[in-house]
Amino acid sequence: MLKIYNALTKQKEEFKSIETGKIGMYVCGPTVYDHCHLGHGRGYVSMDVIRKYLEYTGYEVRYIMNYTDVGHLVNDAEVGEDKIQVKAKNEQVDPMEIVEKYITSSKEDFDALNIKPANFFPRPTQYVAQIIKFIEGLIEKGFAYEVNGSVYFSVEKFPEYGKLSGRKTEDLLSGARIEVNNEKKNPLDFALWINAPKEHLLKWKSPWGEEGYPGWHIECSVMSCDLLGQTTFDIHGGGNENIFPHNENEVAQSEAYLGEKMANYWVLWNMVNVEGVKMSKSLGNFTTIKDALAKYEPSVIRLWIISSHYRSVINYNPDSLEQAKINLQSISSWIGKLNSITLEEGVENIDISSFKKEFDEAMNDDFNTPVALSVIYKLITEANKKQLSKTDASSVLALWEKWNKVLGLRIETDSQNDIPENIQELLKERELARKEKDFAEADRIRDILTKKGFAIEDSGDGTKITIQNPNTKI
Ligand SMILES: [Zn+2]
Repeated sequence: MLKIYNALTKQKEEFKSIETGKIGMYVCGPTVYDHCHLGHGRGYVSMDVIRKYLEYTGYEVRYIMNYTDVGHLVNDAEVGEDKIQVKAKNEQVDPMEIVEKYITSSKEDFDALNIKPANFFPRPTQYVAQIIKFIEGLIEKGFAYEVNGSVYFSVEKFPEYGKLSGRKTEDLLSGARIEVNNEKKNPLDFALWINAPKEHLLKWKSPWGEEGYPGWHIECSVMSCDLLGQTTFDIHGGGNENIFPHNENEVAQSEAYLGEKMANYWVLWNMVNVEGVKMSKSLGNFTTIKDALAKYEPSVIRLWIISSHYRSVINYNPDSLEQAKINLQSISSWIGKLNSITLEEGVENIDISSFKKEFDEAMNDDFNTPVALSVIYKLITEANKKQLSKTDASSVLALWEKWNKVLGLRIETDSQNDIPENIQELLKERELARKEKDFAEADRIRDILTKKGFAIEDSGDGTKITIQNPNTKI
């Protein structure tokens, strides 16, 4: 039974999907005005492992991650210029050039870290019409009001405001700074739509004034609603640093609009620290994913990330990355060793099912990857001590491959690319024969391949060929 820590209820809860076998998942993506740093890498790798584990357990996951390309102001408290616009002005280019450049950059980083692409990557600039419609809906329902071409969400109309972040409106009010924006009826109200000053580069005609642009939070409500069925969805992911105001405001907007819960489970990752201080762009102590990739193999970084639980703080220091490097090497040499086992009769065997059970238990406990990895390390120690038969070794390898669909580590071992071209050709001919149901021909080719020292394994995912022993003659 899968249990997830729900940031909304502050407890671990049994996971139940709304629709049997299917999950809708929305994850707050980056604002694309710079390269992603390791804090982002940590978050999106964590979400990727969670998504892949849900798929491993049989769910079909519809995974959405947005790219914020307008409306995120320099100061999260709705003060200052748009982050992307500042960069565009500095570089004297169009804001969309900045956006395209950093979306491309983040996709390169995500590919390197083996993060499966989202099913959709929506962006607010492509959603302006829906955003306007959504805001009109909030005004009609009495949750929002217009002043001088801007529209604000009225926090007092949503009594549950603060339920996600655990903040009370009274405390927020007493702690509120003297409001710079006197258009708001209540200092806690937040912008859904902002009337654009002349110099603002990205703006659209709206029903409320000349031209304006969406506030930062509204995009996630509108796009999750549009892409996940206009109703409550299963999982909302994000970084816990954005729980207030961003996620809290999403909840208020969506629930006011829908008249029901936004998401059943809020899954929020923790930050990366550098020498005890949070890694962030604004503090200037960040390492971009690209900088880290120049020093370490992508799978070392991925293993370093998943060696901590997603809700714990990770420390970025050379020692922890070196440890991940060593652990990755041990996994890789173990797999190499398993692949080279030729023993027909093993002396001992391994109770694979108990390891699988332990791995699943760890992952079912709020996706506890460090414990799941310890199960793998235990299996490595045990397998290395024993004299396994080839059949046992391949069952261990099959289990590893299943697990690694979740972990997503790229391990350098005998890959299909190491198979010589003439052998690959024979394999293709055999595939063709199988497709045409000419099994006699398929068997004939299999015999040739076996004689040459290759092992052929047919499964639902296609045919796998491996070198049977290191002295294979081509
Ligand atoms: Zn968001």
